[in-house]
Amino acid sequence: PGSLVSAPFPDPSLPRGDGRVAVVTGANRGLGRAIALGLARLGHQVRVAARNRDAAEAVASALRGEGLIATAFVLDVSDDASVSAAAPVLASADVIVNNAAILPDQGVSALEVPIDIVRRTLEVNTVGAIAVMQCAAPAMRARGYGRIVNVSSDWGALSLMAGHQLAYRVSKAALNAASRVFADELRADGVLVNAMHPGWVRTEMGGADALLEPEAAADTALWLATLPADGPTNGFFHNRVPHAW
Ligand code: NDP
Repeated sequence: PGSLVSAPFPDPSLPRGDGRVAVVTGANRGLGRAIALGLARLGHQVRVAARNRDAAEAVASALRGEGLIATAFVLDVSDDASVSAAAPVLASADVIVNNAAILPDQGVSALEVPIDIVRRTLEVNTVGAIAVMQCAAPAMRARGYGRIVNVSSDWGALSLMAGHQLAYRVSKAALNAASRVFADELRADGVLVNAMHPGWVRTEMGGADALLEPEAAADTALWLATLPADGPTNGFFHNRVPHAW
C-alpha cells in the first residue's frame, strides 16, 4: 500500500526547451537548484548563477554529470559590478528565473526590524531582480521571445498582507509590482513575465518542517518558463493557478 515512487521530475508533459538558454539566479541550492535541474532536464542550456563561483560550478558540474547542458557564472544580484560583468550572459537568456532572495527578518516585528535590513532585503529581492530583467529584456524583445519568472511569495500578496517580516513582505510586494510593469511593457514582443509563489519549501529559507521538496515546488516555475506563445503574462501563480495579488 502506498507508493514509494515519486512523481517524475520535471513533469514530462511540459514543453521541451529545445536548447534555449535559461538563467536561474541563486541556483546553487534550494529551489533555484531544483529549477535549474528541471530546466536542464527539459532540454535548456542552463546558466547556473550564484554568488560563489565554486558553488555555481558544483551545480553545473552535477548537471553535466547527468548528461545535461549547463555552465556556471558568478552573479550577486545586489552588486552593480557583478551584474555588469554578467550582462552578456543575461542578454543571451531566452528564459530568466529570478529566484535569488533573502529572508533576514523572519518573525521580526515591523517596529523593530533594523532599517539597514529593510534596505538590504529590497536591494537583493527587488532591485536585484529588476537589474537582471533590465539586462535580459532588451535582447529578448529584439529576438521576439522571452520568458521571465519572478519567484515571489504569498507573503508579498497585498490580499494576504499581515504582520512581521516587513522587509521580506515589502520586497516581494514590490517584486510583484515590478513583474507587472515589465510584463506590460513587453507583452507585444513575445516576452511573457509572471510572478509565482512556490509554497512552503524545505530549503535553508523554508526550514526542515516545510511541506514541499524543492522539486515539487519548482513545477510552477518550470511551467511559466516554458509557456507557449499564447500563455499568460502579467500574472501571479501558485500551483499553476492564479493567486490573488
Ligand atoms: P534559500 O535561502 O535556500 O536560497 C536562496 C538562494 O538565493 C541561495 O542560492 C542564495 O545564495 C541566493 N542569494 C541570496 N542573496 C543573493 C544575492 N545577493 N545574489 C545572488 N544570489 C543570492 O531559499 P529558497 O530556495 O527557499 O528560496 C528561493 C526563492 O523562493 C526565493 O525567492 C524565496 O523568497 C522564495 N520562496 C521560498 C519559500 C520557502 O518556503 N522556502 C516560500 C516562498 C517563497 P547563497 O548560497 O550565496 O546565499
